[in-house]
Order: sequence, then structure tokens, then C-alpha cells
Amino acid sequence: MIVVMRPGSTSQNIDHVAETLRKNGLSPNTIVGTDRTVIAAVGKESEGLQQTLETLDGVEKVLPILAPYKMASREGHPEPSTIKVKSFVTGGQAIGVIAGPCSVEGRAEILEVAQEVKEAGATGLRGGAFKPRTSPYSFQGLKEKGLEFLAEAGKATGLAVFTEVMAPEHVAMVSHYSDVLQVGARNMQNYPLLEAVGAQPKPVLLKRGPSATMEEFLLAAEYILKMGNPNVMLCERGIRTFEDHTRFTLPLASVPYLHEKTHLPVVIDPSHGTGKSSLVKAMTLAAIAAGTDALILEVHPNPEKAVSDGYQTISTAAFRQLMNEARHLAQALGRKLN
Ligand code: PEP
Ligand code: MN
Repeated sequence: MIVVMRPGSTSQNIDHVAETLRKNGLSPNTIVGTDRTVIAAVGKESEGLQQTLETLDGVEKVLPILAPYKMASREGHPEPSTIKVKSFVTGGQAIGVIAGPCSVEGRAEILEVAQEVKEAGATGLRGGAFKPRTSPYSFQGLKEKGLEFLAEAGKATGLAVFTEVMAPEHVAMVSHYSDVLQVGARNMQNYPLLEAVGAQPKPVLLKRGPSATMEEFLLAAEYILKMGNPNVMLCERGIRTFEDHTRFTLPLASVPYLHEKTHLPVVIDPSHGTGKSSLVKAMTLAAIAAGTDALILEVHPNPEKAVSDGYQTISTAAFRQLMNEARHLAQALGRKLN
């Protein structure tokens, strides 16, 4: 880490910082500049040392050199990670496409939509059986029945099933029926839930909290990795800003930024990211251009009739068309889409 001293800090201040670093097993190198002194320390940074140093007299700021998210960081894992579940592949050349309704609404509906998105080229099927709804009066999901329908649709089509788990006590049940566990935006910092999905073997799709910073997002992923589950996908689904022309603001710079910082695959959600079905196609293509590893899209045979998020859902016909355009774009960029 690097300790930047305030202009005018005394030699006692500098010696005390160097001594504290030494006591914590680091080797300090003091660099005296014309108006300030910087101490570069080499060695393993212990928990809480940064905060301790920041309280010492004469210290202006402390800059850690290594990212605090050790396992998610690209520093210790330069190759991008790939995740493969059934026909769904992400990371590297392949772009995974997860499509399906916001909520599982019934057996016939999910079987139909699964068949249609599969034919259009999707490799994953989405659908919520446990729904985190803003209002307690809104449809809360079909729960275990919905999971059964999803599993049947997954089996019939070969698509990898993605579905949300909202509580640690549901993890075993949800992972029994699905292939990938989704941790929703509202639960990004539910640490007992992150630990519970980290302690089971199915891959996890972690959605960014709408007000979480990138560092908080990566540290949330770190909770899952630290429990022994290496298969984590990071999903940018839009953040809350002052803008109100879209439901959330979808920052596509997250894709190249995350690729710089982490080896974990990045997934973009243009449906929640815009909240408007008319904007989904352009943002899907833009996400591919930005280098996304996968996409998750809300698709329904009749979005007007969808029980949740219909306004941001595209029809199966629109999805087919979108996939055709996306395939051309992916090809032009040397990427692969089913
Ligand atoms: C969803 O995928 O339907 C969902 C609820 O997403 P988010 O957690 O991003 O709001
Ligand atoms: Mn939704």
C-alpha cells in the first residue's frame, strides 16, 4: 500500500507510520518529495491496517495496491472465467442468451415460451417463481409449483434454467429444480443469502444493486467465491439515477470496466435496465458491441398479458428478430451467438 503524508508532516509522524507498517509485517520505503512524503509499503496487507494508518497523525490518505476483492480480482486470475451449464456458455467467445418471462405464470405458458426462445437461439431460460415485488399486494410468484414448471420446461428444451432465490432457507429447494441461482438486485447485499448460494454447487447470477458501487458489487461476488463456489456471473441491470425517462439507467461502461477488474463473466439485462420494451433491442445490440459475455431478456408470448414487468418485456416474435440482428453483429465482432 501507499501512504501519502500531509505537506508539513513531521519526521516523527513519518517514523511512526513506518514503524506501524513494520509491526504489521510490511517493508516501508520512504520517498521524500519537494512538498510531501510518500511511503510505499511492500508485503501482505492485513485486515484493518488501512483504517489504522488513516488515523495516524500526518497521514493524508492510504491507497491499497491490491483490490479488496481478492478472488474476484483479475490481478490474481488474468484469464477470463468461463461458465458452462447445459448448452449455456459464457465467458470467452460465446455470448450466452437467457430469455423468458419475468414470472413463471403457468405450465403451458412456460413450456411454450421455452420452446420459442430455444428455437430463436436462447441457451438459457429465465422465469421467477419467487418474486421480489415492491408492493406486497402484487403477484408474488408461483413458488415451488413455478419451480416444477420451470424444471419441466428446462428438461423439454435442454435450456439451462435460471431462477431467483430470495432467502437462505429456500436455497436447497431452488437449486434442486434449477441450473443457475439468481440473486436479485434487492438482495445483492444480503450476506447470509450470498453465503448460502456460495456453499452450494450450482452457478450463481448475481445482479447489481441499483445503488451499489462497482466495488460493493465485486465484494458481494467475493462472498460467494469465498464460500467455495467459483461460478459467479455479474449482472448489470441498471442503477438508480436522477433520470426518469427509463426505469433505471443502464451503464454499459460496466462491461469493459468489469472486464478490467475481474475475471468473472458479465451479463447485461436490457429489460430491467431500461424498463421499456421499445429500448430493449438497441441496448441489447449495444451491450454486445461493448463486449458482454451474456444477456438476460424478458420475453413473453403476449407482453400485454404478462403478470409482471410486461412494459419492459418483448414478444417472442420480437425476440426472434432481435436474435437475427444480434447474430450478425456478434459475427462481425468475432463472437458467437447460437
Ligand atoms: C428479475 O429478473 O425479474 C428481477 C426481479 O430483477 P432485479 O433483481 O434486477 O430487479
Ligand atoms: Mn422482471
